[in-house]
Amino acid sequence: MNNRRAAAVMRADAPVLAPGHVWLAGAGPGDPGLLTLDALAGLSQADVVVHDALVDRRVLALAGSQARLEFAGKRGGRPSAEQRDISTRLIELARAGHRVLRLKGGDPCMFGRGGEEALALSAAGVPFRIIPGVTAGLAGLTAAAIPATFRGMNRALILAAGYGADDDGLDWSALARTGQPIVLYMAMRNLAAIADQLMRGGLPPSTPAAIVVSATMADERIVVSTLERVAADAQDHQLGTPAIIIIGEIVRLRARLMEAVREGEAAT
Ligand code: SAH
Repeated sequence: MNNRRAAAVMRADAPVLAPGHVWLAGAGPGDPGLLTLDALAGLSQADVVVHDALVDRRVLALAGSQARLEFAGKRGGRPSAEQRDISTRLIELARAGHRVLRLKGGDPCMFGRGGEEALALSAAGVPFRIIPGVTAGLAGLTAAAIPATFRGMNRALILAAGYGADDDGLDWSALARTGQPIVLYMAMRNLAAIADQLMRGGLPPSTPAAIVVSATMADERIVVSTLERVAADAQDHQLGTPAIIIIGEIVRLRARLMEAVREGEAAT
């Protein structure tokens, strides 16, 4: 979508991003079609777009021609800008009178430190607003034809961060005991250890698992596996990041749903 089309879909009653204000917005998982209209309004009005590495290039391309893009975020798991520095930068840009869009992949507050940045802006007296986004841990499932919930199969969905499998105090056995599907963010590096803990917590090794890499992006990849094999499969298929991992019976529905979607498409 080019700027002209972006402007065409802007609502007449779109909120105004005023000079000196910051919007903390989610960019969704990748596909610009999953951007909210409010985030789009921010892109078209911002003087400065401060974005992280996960924001898709096609989304950044929707920024107005007046906008300057500024990278701030993490690359390859290593912080390339300290969180404190990012907040300081947002405050500095706002105080200089810019219209600032802080754009994060997915939802700004889902493992995105949106809450921390909002508190820093508030403490500095900078006016801001938070715009929700479509989080990868939900969009990634639906994009892979795995329903987040399915009647008779699950009544809850656990979204968990998979860094530091051993040392972060998260009780993986307790999660396993719920028997509810688990969606892991940031878990590729610790996948073997996490899978191990979940099996020790009582999840059968044969529990279906799926890895969705770059959900809704041009290079999306989906690999279906089992809890026992998922870490080895990730390696064998040389899967990169960003990726979410889904563990639970809902993964089994993918084949049926794909079939149904194919039939639906054939019927039209
Ligand atoms: N705020 C983001 C999450 C940031 S944490 C959100 O709401 O989606 C970063 C992690 O998000 C990645 O390690 C990966 O697990 C997940 N992620 C983000 N975008 C993704 C995508 N397009 N496909 C798969 N996983 C993604």
